[in-house]
Amino acid sequence: MDDRTFRNAMGRFATGVTIVTTQVGDDTHGMTANAFMSVSLDPKLVTISIDHNARMYERIKASGQFAVSILTDEQKEVSMHFAGQKDDPSVVEFDYISGIPVIRDALAAVVCNVAESFEVGDHTLFIGQVLEIKLTDGNPLAFFEGKYGSYQPV
Ligand code: FAD
Ligand code: NAD
Repeated sequence: MDDRTFRNAMGRFATGVTIVTTQVGDDTHGMTANAFMSVSLDPKLVTISIDHNARMYERIKASGQFAVSILTDEQKEVSMHFAGQKDDPSVVEFDYISGIPVIRDALAAVVCNVAESFEVGDHTLFIGQVLEIKLTDGNPLAFFEGKYGSYQPV
């Protein structure tokens, strides 16, 4: 099967948009990600899937910690910046929870220690043990077939 067919199929799974962040020494790093999933309630675990070519991959391995910030529909520019689609550092605002960076005004910020990691194909699944959560009211940013949108209840 060709890559385009796979991407087209995966792109039909409408998702929210998150920014994965981590801190290594003085270096704060962020990356747009939609491969995010809740895994377990007891204990509280989530997972993210990080491409081995992403700079984020080595940084999470080094820090052993990450946060996932779920974006609002007012943060499309933040997603584009952290995906390298548009360079606009003016949209970047971090808050810090227990020393771990999160995106300011995100709908939810989930701060984790890496509990386990699994190398799977060209990505690694990092399982995060949830340490802290911050919630803010708002509407989610949606992503479908490569385009940003907003959520509409039906
Ligand atoms: P870079 O490409 O170096 O960083 C990304 C951007 O963030 C750069 O513009 C950089 O300047 C900026 N940046 C980073 N840190 C800071 C900082 N401290 N201050 C200001 N700017 C900063 N890839 C995956 O592996 N998994 C996914 O689940 C995934 N989902 C995606 C979902 C969407 C909707 C999109 C659009 C892309 C997704 N990607 C995903 C692709 C991924 O976002 C890009 O390949 C990204 O560029 C990889 O980031 P990087 O860690 O290599 O770092
Ligand atoms: P796209 O058509 O390349 O991607 C559609 C969907 O395919 C994505 O939402 C994702 O589910 C899947 N996908 C794409 N690239 C992948 C990869 N390397 N590994 C695993 N799954 C992948 O176009 P788009 O949705 O506009 O994405 C924009 C850019 O962001 C592309 O360069 C894409 O490769 C990258 N991206 C990567 C991932 C990832 O998990 N690594 C996820 C989403 C987007």
